[in-house]
Amino acid sequence: MTILEKIAENAQKHPRRPAYYYEKPAGGGYKGDGEIPCHKARSISWGDLDEQSGRLAYYLDKSLGTRTPVVVYGHKDPLMLVCFLACVKSGRAYCPIDVSVPSKRVDAVIREVQPEVIMATEELSLSYQQILFAEDIHKIIETAAGAAARERAVAAQDVFYIIFTSGSTGVPKGVQITRDCLDHFIEWGLTLGSLLETEEGEGCVFLNQAPFSFDLSVMDLYLSLYSGGTIWALDRKIQGNMRELLASLKRSRAAVWVSTPSFAEVCLSDPSFGEAVLPDLRTFLFCGETLANRTAQRLLEAFPRAEVVNTYGPTESTVAVTGVTVTRELAGEVNPLPVGKARKGTWIFIMDEEGNLLPEGESGEIVIAGDTVSAGYWNAPERTGQSFGSMEIEGRAYRFYRTGDRGYQKGEQLFYCGRMDLQIKLHGYRMELEDIEQNIMKLPGIRRAAVLPVRRGGQVRSLSAFVAAEEMPKDAFAESQRLREALRRFLPDYMIPKKFVFLESLPLTVNGKVDRRVLGGDIL
Ligand code: AMP
Repeated sequence: MTILEKIAENAQKHPRRPAYYYEKPAGGGYKGDGEIPCHKARSISWGDLDEQSGRLAYYLDKSLGTRTPVVVYGHKDPLMLVCFLACVKSGRAYCPIDVSVPSKRVDAVIREVQPEVIMATEELSLSYQQILFAEDIHKIIETAAGAAARERAVAAQDVFYIIFTSGSTGVPKGVQITRDCLDHFIEWGLTLGSLLETEEGEGCVFLNQAPFSFDLSVMDLYLSLYSGGTIWALDRKIQGNMRELLASLKRSRAAVWVSTPSFAEVCLSDPSFGEAVLPDLRTFLFCGETLANRTAQRLLEAFPRAEVVNTYGPTESTVAVTGVTVTRELAGEVNPLPVGKARKGTWIFIMDEEGNLLPEGESGEIVIAGDTVSAGYWNAPERTGQSFGSMEIEGRAYRFYRTGDRGYQKGEQLFYCGRMDLQIKLHGYRMELEDIEQNIMKLPGIRRAAVLPVRRGGQVRSLSAFVAAEEMPKDAFAESQRLREALRRFLPDYMIPKKFVFLESLPLTVNGKVDRRVLGGDIL
């Protein structure tokens, strides 16, 4: 059954069950000294989700001339989900943008997508011809004359969503994921934890940590929507306050946890985080960065009845393509942990620089082929051609994607060793160092910039920028502050370097490129 058929079926079966639950902070912290933070609960039932998205889809279908993708801007209001489903029910892809994305970047994405309409559930202070705000959308839903017909929905080969990731030229890349890719991912995703394969797993609560513009959120949203569950979405402000976070987790009664390992590490820093907070928790699903053995061990100690699953994959192959259950034995014996075995329908190849297959155990570039590999980047045939292609496997043509990740295989298990290029992960966020450099070099008075990750204990802890300015600043501290402030207009906070070093000029390699090794040693 496809995701859209399954959503319709779930809505019919249990229309009153909450499909999505979100606590919106009211901005004031706690009420008195009680345990309950000031927040407004916003939820939507399965019946309302299906009906409202159908009505909004009807409006989009009747009022828009083209089927270009729709940008959906906001944070975690339930209306976001209504908008996503309305887009796909009317045959359009949606492109989610979270409020944490700075306005210059929102602007760059909108200019790339050229949507006929933007739907915004939060304030958006950009002047575009057609923005539908929350009140407009609610009005449309109330007054729509019907629901979009089923045949208007995205077909198997149509793009379901476009998620933008950091691009090395300073322009983000829009990864297009078709409905078929998503359906194949879900089918496998539901086999990841033993809970999800049982009847008990039907209708359970899935925790949502990731913003919707990060493809990790696809894991919780669509596994929950397929299995008739409830999504418990954590607001970003709540995530930043340990006391509120633990209280919200306690209220969630979540059974399935989906996050980056970094987020679980933050929670583990509070000694009370464990079964007493989340008594129903049975499955931890991780993706997006290295899961440390110690993290897995601590989670298994704090949640003796839960499973820990490590998954791996880039946005370009639909969330994740390999997975492994990390038992106590595995976490104790194998370090680093494997990222798992390829799902059915995915083939992993390890290749050298010339594209030759490497034997088992040798490390090289991870190439992913199969039925969840993206159709390519939005409106960027050249970039698509550089990383994507097609190959024949078992008598069928499959798309493949060169990940730029390094890894090796041992038996069926894949091991991840890091990036081949300059893409890094900092606190779970993926970014290209060149992207940050391009943005620094946009600032007046800057000639060149090189950004380097600062590692401690094998992990990236912060970023340092080496800057060749037109004039050496008299007060380096004040100049660093000025650059950081200026960068905030273009980059999210987590991409802003902590330290700036001013140099007359940057060292170059013989090819005339900035020599990162001279600046910072083992960058690659
Ligand atoms: P994103 O497209 O934002 O999901 O980032 C994908 C990248 O994150 C991959 O290409 C890897 O470099 C990294 N990644 C994803 N999963 C894992 C994992 N389980 N362990 C280590 N790195 C990972």
